[in-house]
Amino acid sequence: MKRRDFVKSVGLCGLQAFVANPLSLLAAEEGGSTAEESGSAAAKLREHVVDHAELLEVNFRWPRFVGKNGRIGDHGQHKKCTVLKLRTHQGAMGWGLSHRNAKEELEEVKGKTLTQLIAPGRGISAGVPKTYDFALHDLMGVVLQKPVYQLLGAQGPKASPVYSGMIYLDELNAGDSKKSIDPVLANCQWDIDYGYRQLKVKIGRSGRWYPHDEGLQKDIEVVKAIHELVAPQGTQLLVDANDVYSLKDTQDFLRGIGDVPLVWVEEPFVENIKEGRLLRKWMNENGFKNTYYADGERQPNHSVCMTLAEENNLDVYLPDINGYGFSAWLELMPKLRSMNTLASPHAWGDRLKTHYIAHLAAGLGNVVTVEGVTCLSDDIDYGNYPIREGRLHVSEAPGFGMTLLTKS
Ligand SMILES: [Mg+2]
Repeated sequence: MKRRDFVKSVGLCGLQAFVANPLSLLAAEEGGSTAEESGSAAAKLREHVVDHAELLEVNFRWPRFVGKNGRIGDHGQHKKCTVLKLRTHQGAMGWGLSHRNAKEELEEVKGKTLTQLIAPGRGISAGVPKTYDFALHDLMGVVLQKPVYQLLGAQGPKASPVYSGMIYLDELNAGDSKKSIDPVLANCQWDIDYGYRQLKVKIGRSGRWYPHDEGLQKDIEVVKAIHELVAPQGTQLLVDANDVYSLKDTQDFLRGIGDVPLVWVEEPFVENIKEGRLLRKWMNENGFKNTYYADGERQPNHSVCMTLAEENNLDVYLPDINGYGFSAWLELMPKLRSMNTLASPHAWGDRLKTHYIAHLAAGLGNVVTVEGVTCLSDDIDYGNYPIREGRLHVSEAPGFGMTLLTKS
C-alpha cells in the first residue's frame, strides 16, 4: 500500500473491517485459519515498513513542587523525558516513552516490517530493544485503528481505580521551618479535587530526615491526620516507605495508626523472604488482614518477589511499566494471575506511564489500582483518559491515543 492510500483508507473507513476480533490477529499472524478480516489485518501489519526512527526530548511538569520521600531528596517540578517517534513508509506514525540510549539502535529497525517487530498480544519480538516497546504498540494500534487494550484482548475493565502517587514529605519543603503538616493536607485535598479517591502517602521519615523515633511518630501523625481529612470524602489511603523501615518499624507504624484502614503497605523494607513472610503473618494477626503487602518496585529481586507471591505472602507486585517493560508485563500478568497475585506496575514520574498501565489493565485485567501521575505538558496531548469518581478511563483512540505536539 502506498503512503497516500494508507492515509486515505484511515480517513475514510477507520480500518474497522480488519479488526473485528483483535485476538484473532495473533492467530492470523501464526497462520491459524481465521476470519477473512483478521488475515487482512495481519497483512496490513506486514505491509508497513518502518522507514523513520527519531528520538526527541519533551518537557512536562507536575502541577506542584514535589519534595522528599523517605529515601531521596527533593524531586522538583519541571521534567524532561525522551520519546521515540516511528514512521512507516505508508505514512503511519507511532510514538512512545523511550530512552536516550535507544539512539544506538535507531538504524536496526529501519527497513523492517511491523510483523517482524511486534505482534498483538505478544508484544515486541525477541531481540527488539525494550526502548521500542511503547512506540511499536502505539504504531501497531494506529495501523489497525484500535486502542492498544483491544489488541491485548480487552479482558479487563475499561475504568480502573487510580491513586495519586504525589503525597510526599511535604512538610519538609523549603519555607516552612515549623514542619507543619498543613501543606501535606492541602496537597491531599488538591488531589481529591482533581478526581482521585485513593492517595499514596509517603512515609519513612524515620530513615533520613528526622531522628528515628520522632520520624516514626510523625509518619503516624501524618497518616492519621490525612485519614481524618479524606475518609469523609470517600478516599482511601496507601502508604509507601521506600524501603527505609525495618520490620519492627513497620509493625510499630501499623500499631500506631491503629484502625486507619490502608489499601496497601508498599516497600516497607528491601524485599526478603524471611521478613516478607513475617510481615504478612503479623498483619493477618493484628488487624491488617485486608491490607495488601505490595513490593518489587525499586530494583526488584524478581525471584524473591515471585516466591513470596507464590506463597500468598506478597499480594501486589509492582515492577515499573517502563523499567520492566510493557511486553514483559504481557508475559508476567498470566503468571501472577495464576498465583492469585495482583499487579500495579510502578508509574511514578511520568503520566505517559499511567496511561500505558490503563491499557494493560483494560487489556489483561488483574490490576488492582493504577498509579496516577498528574502531569501537564506543552509538548504532549495526553489524550482522553478522564478520572471520574476515582476511576481512570482508558482512551478509545487508536494506539495509546496521545499526541506529540513538538515538531521534530
Ligand atoms: Mg514506591
